[in-house]
Amino acid sequence: MYRDLSYLDEVKFCPHCNEKLSCCEAPPIHVGDGLGWGSDVLFICLSDNCPLFLRGWDHIGDQYGHHASYRYMELPGSKESNVMMVGNKDAFKGSIVDPEAIKNQNARYLEEKKAVEELKSCLKEKNLSPVLTLLLDEGSMNSSRVLALEYLVKLGDLTCIDALRNHTFRDETFKEKVDTTLKKLLTENFKKEVLEAKGLVLVDFWAEWCPPCRALAPILEQVEKEAGEKIKITKVNVDNNRELSVEYGIQGIPTNKIFKDGEVIETLVGLMPKDHYLQVIDKHSK
Ligand SMILES: [Zn+2]
Repeated sequence: MYRDLSYLDEVKFCPHCNEKLSCCEAPPIHVGDGLGWGSDVLFICLSDNCPLFLRGWDHIGDQYGHHASYRYMELPGSKESNVMMVGNKDAFKGSIVDPEAIKNQNARYLEEKKAVEELKSCLKEKNLSPVLTLLLDEGSMNSSRVLALEYLVKLGDLTCIDALRNHTFRDETFKEKVDTTLKKLLTENFKKEVLEAKGLVLVDFWAEWCPPCRALAPILEQVEKEAGEKIKITKVNVDNNRELSVEYGIQGIPTNKIFKDGEVIETLVGLMPKDHYLQVIDKHSK
């Protein structure tokens, strides 16, 4: 929720000790009447030398037999005197409002609001950004995030994968939904880019941790340049896409499979010199 910061500028003083009142988070329920405070912050005198606080222990002890005292309190925007009962001298000291934290929360809220708005036109504009913002923001509404997941598949933009894989989702159930969606996204993409493609496609099955795979990457870039229109080259990260690796019987990496009109026509295992790939492509393009 967006929070009004104006109360942070209020300067209030305790009439008992003249110390400045601290702006504290209000406890969720006003003990006593069961209602809220009507404000999410309270101004409280936290001075341990405050006469009201020092006298309060004896007063409450005599009157009610409890070990407790009073702190002077005012609501934001009000001059009305109030007291708050506390059981120890550190009560509320841990809930002093941090303006920076509220500013950050506000910024997060505004970003969520903007993303929810942009989500409406993200498919038309092929804009992944609001989808990712909502999925990676653990504070966003669940309903927006579920919708964002739906759009993730429709957008078919694979640049989302690393960010989503590296993110720690707080909710296990949601994490499972994300994993299922990513699998679907990769499968759909493979279908579109490889199985339904006309002509030659080389699929490089690789992984980040595999040195020969990393050595192959620039070679394939060169092959793609030199082969030009003859072939399209695409990559499948085996860590991100175990289903496809199993389906195509990948035993070791790098493995390169050449597809023609959606069918595998040749498999190349291991790292080979550039010319070898070019020769194979030439052979199949005839
Ligand atoms: Zn005071």
